[in-house]
Order: sequence, then C-alpha cells, then structure tokens
Amino acid sequence: MKKQYDYLIVGAGLFGATFAHRMTKSGKRCLVIDRRAHIGGNTYCENISGINVHKYGAHIFHTSDKQIWNFVNSFVEFNRYTNSPIANYHGELYNLPFNMNTFNRMWGVVTPSEAMDKIAEQRDQARRQMLAEGCSEPSNLEQQALLLVGKDIFEKLIKGYTEKQWGRPCNQLPAFIIKRLPVRLVFDNNYFNDTYQGIPIGGYNRLIEKLLEGSEVRLNTDMLTQRDELSKLADRILYTGALDAYFDFRLGYLQYRSVSFEQEVLPISNYQGNAVVNYTDSETPFTRIIEHKHFEMFGEAVNQCPTTVISKEYSTEWTPKMEPYYPVNDERNTELLQQYRSLAQKEKNVIFGGRLAEYKYYDMAPTIKNAFDLAAKELC
Ligand SMILES: Cc1cc2nc3c(=O)[nH]c(=O)nc-3n(C[C@H](O)[C@H](O)[C@H](O)COP(=O)(O)OP(=O)(O)OC[C@H]3O[C@@H](n4cnc5c(N)ncnc54)[C@H](O)[C@@H]3O)c2cc1C
Repeated sequence: MKKQYDYLIVGAGLFGATFAHRMTKSGKRCLVIDRRAHIGGNTYCENISGINVHKYGAHIFHTSDKQIWNFVNSFVEFNRYTNSPIANYHGELYNLPFNMNTFNRMWGVVTPSEAMDKIAEQRDQARRQMLAEGCSEPSNLEQQALLLVGKDIFEKLIKGYTEKQWGRPCNQLPAFIIKRLPVRLVFDNNYFNDTYQGIPIGGYNRLIEKLLEGSEVRLNTDMLTQRDELSKLADRILYTGALDAYFDFRLGYLQYRSVSFEQEVLPISNYQGNAVVNYTDSETPFTRIIEHKHFEMFGEAVNQCPTTVISKEYSTEWTPKMEPYYPVNDERNTELLQQYRSLAQKEKNVIFGGRLAEYKYYDMAPTIKNAFDLAAKELC
C-alpha cells in the first residue's frame, strides 16, 4: 500500500531543509519533523528587541561556490557582513586574522618587510630554543605554534584562547591541531578567504522557512520516542540526528566538545563595536563575546536600536545531556564511528546525513552541497 509520504525527514536543520526542498521540487511528498520547538537546527535565530540572536552560536555564511551562493540568494538576500574579529588581550586590541594591522599593533612595524623580519627573528628564536631542549620536531601545540608565528603572537593571541577551547595547556595538546597559522602581509581584516560571505537579511529563519515550503513540518516531535508510528508514514527516512542516539547508544557515546552561552540583554545601543571579540588571555573565563546586532545592523542603524544582546561563550566538556557541537576526532571516537556506520549500512530505507548523523563538522555551505548530492542520488 502506498504510504502517506515519500520521505520522512528527521531534523529541520539546514541539511534536512535543503534535502526537503530538492525532493518537494521533484514532486516528492515530505514530512519534516524536529524534536525542537523551532525549525533551522543550529542556524536558528531568536528575535529579541528587533535583533536576531544566533541561539546556538554565531553563524556566518561563507563560500566560494557560486552555485551554492546563488542558491541561498534565490530565497533571501544576504547583507554585506564581513567577518573581522578582534582579539582582546588584557585590554590590548588586535585585528584578526594575523595581518599588517596586527603586526603594527604588536611591534610597531609599518612595512611588510619589517613584519617579515620580526616574524623570522621570532621563529628562529623558537627553533633554537627547541633544539636546545633536544627536540628536532615540534612535539606539542605550543612548540608548533612558536615555530609558525613566534613568541609574541603565541603568548598574546593563541595560548590563552586555545587552552580555554581545549581545556588543557598548549604543551599538552598535540602539534597536529595547528597545521598552519597563516600570516598576511597586507592590511586585510577579512577573516575568510572565500569569494562570498554575509548574513541573510532578516536572519537564517527566513532561509529555512523558504526551503521548507511544500513540506509538512511537525515540531516537538522526537523520532526516537515515536519511532514505530513515524516510520510507518513514509517509504524512506532521512535521519539527520545523532548517529549513536539512533542506535540507543548501544556501543557507547560518541564524544563532543560543547559550548555554553551566557546571554545578556543590555539597555545600550553598542557594547563592543564589533560582532566578534575573542578574549585571548587565560584569566577571562569565556572565549569570546558575540554582539548579535552587528551581524545585521551597520552605521547609524546600530545607534537607532537602543538595545543590544551579547552572548559570552564558554568552551565546555560535553556530557550526554548537553548540545553536541564539535566532534572529537580522536582514535576512540573514529573507531566507534566506524562501528556505528556498519550498523547504519544495515538499516533498510533509512539514509543518514548532516553533521550529527555523519559525526563530522561541516560549515553551512558544504552542508547544502552534501544535501544536494544526496538528493541527486535519491532521485536517479
Ligand atoms: C557553535 C557553532 C558555530 C557555527 N558557526 C558556523 C559559521 O559561522 N558558518 C558556517 O558556515 N557554519 C557554522 N556552523 C556549522 C553549522 O551549524 C552546520 O553546518 C549546520 O547547522 C548543519 O546542519 P544540520 O542540519 O546537519 O544540523 P543541525 O543544524 O544540528 O540540525 C539537526 C536537527 O535535527 C534535529 N534532531 C536531532 N535528533 C532528532 C530526533 N531524534 N528527532 C527529531 N529531530 C531531531 C535537531 O533538533 C536539529 O534541529 C557552526 C556550528 C557550530 C556548532
């Protein structure tokens, strides 16, 4: 007997919503469920006093893929936001990523060749120090970073921030975490190298709403507590939730790093003058402060809105009841993931996709690309 839907899509995040869009456009009937009370997954924005607050962490769309950029812009216009974070080290402010503005503030150098000489001098010092300690290759993150950018940048802009992020001293973290630390010898504070970036005007919810047009959506609906009845509704299931949760954690938990947010609504128009300020010292307990209005308000519009919303971000150890954010790709989790993947391959009519089901960090643009690819595979 024909079922009510062609696809049950578990998760109304960017992956599920993009897949739903592709399938409904091809005439498939889709039911999209989410256990949360809203659509959008981690891109969801809550409107507070006219400001779109990125509830699950700051999201900046960036890509060099013209097809993806045109796709998202066909639903909602993107603004001119350019990510240019500031580092605050004990009240000293530095531009990120490391560029001529950073080097001028750090050493007073004015030309690229002066900056290059300074960096080379500090790298040499680090290499001599390492050799004196009997190491020919960096054996931890601290040595690796010192070799790449030298002592001053490491101590003021990398050490404290990285230790807060990972919850461990840099000399106890593996060197491979930092493969490259690009230094730019130009006055360019644009964090991303991508051709396109911005924030959807009116927030990400508008993009997701548009993607879900044509699908039936049920919120507050958890697949795993109503598995039997929901499975009967559709011929095929796309599951974008956590892979280990789908199998009731029967082989153990896949581990994550999490972030907790402390949100404040302040009766002032401008708190820090920038969307992203990283606190790179080790004494400040949070890693960064996001001031959400700067993602969508520019120039005079900032002053005209009398309120602001900030989020302090704390990098936290993950426990099973917390939001899973960043997969931990160590040996234990990689092995466990392989075992769960073997179980997943045996599931009939269930496909797994998205950052949680794949246990892999993806930015938004690759998430859309992956959903395109999966939809194309399903349709051929
Ligand atoms: C802190 C943070 C900051 C980020 N910043 C950026 C950025 O600046 N730029 C960028 O490009 N990318 C960023 N990303 C990545 C971005 O969030 C992801 O690419 C995107 O959210 C992936 O979409 P998804 O649909 O796979 O997952 P999600 O957004 O997590 O959606 C999965 C959905 O499935 C639902 N679900 C799970 N289990 C069940 C169940 N059992 N039943 C029903 N529903 C279920 C969840 O509630 C959720 O809504 C960031 C990620 C994090 C963690």
